[in-house]
Amino acid sequence: MLEITQLPVLNDNYIYLLHEPDAAITGVVDPAVATPVLKALESQHHSLDFILNTHHHSDHVGANLELKALTGCTIIGAEKDQKRIPGIDQKLSHGQCFSFGIENCEIFETPGHTSGHICFYFANSDALFCGDTVFSMGCGRLFEGSAEQMWTSLQLIKSLPETTKIYCAHEYTQANGVFAASIERDNPALEQRIIEVNNLRKDNLPTVPSTLSQELSTNPFLREQCLSIQQALNMENYPAVEVFAELRKRKDHF
Ligand code: ZN
Ligand code: FE
Repeated sequence: MLEITQLPVLNDNYIYLLHEPDAAITGVVDPAVATPVLKALESQHHSLDFILNTHHHSDHVGANLELKALTGCTIIGAEKDQKRIPGIDQKLSHGQCFSFGIENCEIFETPGHTSGHICFYFANSDALFCGDTVFSMGCGRLFEGSAEQMWTSLQLIKSLPETTKIYCAHEYTQANGVFAASIERDNPALEQRIIEVNNLRKDNLPTVPSTLSQELSTNPFLREQCLSIQQALNMENYPAVEVFAELRKRKDHF
């Protein structure tokens, strides 16, 4: 099982430090900045073997070159985005796997937020590092992809085991909950989650990771096939992808 350390950085980003204890392998997902990563490595007495980048935005790759220069780590990213991932060494595409010690990590291409966005799936640890694809009760903005692409990416995530922990890259949950509640007014699971999230945030605690099961019952962007959502949008029996596109448009203007 991976040991996962969550580092809150910048305004609302999360960096994840991953350690596989059997082979003593350590990696970091989306290092926006170097200092908190170096401090955590030092306090855990671990050296850095890998950087895993979900996409090219600076709040995800900002410390790539600095960490690589200091540690000699290997940088793993999307083949499709090799020109935009600073210092990339291993270029992977959809369905490819790599060994993280004794843990197997599978790459999913999940275009939508950016065209080259990928997720890292550790089946044995029930963990998905999904960057800016899905957030708790939300999803990433469509900067480079179409609604169809993002919807397809989310269908893949929805097909994973419901126990999968969703390690997204931002603490956007509270604001996402306000939007979710504006769409779905009668969803007890959503009401419950909003209370839980408000309590956590009051104490400045993370609401991430959630589980896929929680997202399936509260995240409007994963619930486009639910009658409650379709009725709220006056889109009963519309194709799911069109319902998703309308939700994303409304969130952009919310
Ligand atoms: Zn981003
Ligand atoms: Fe981001």
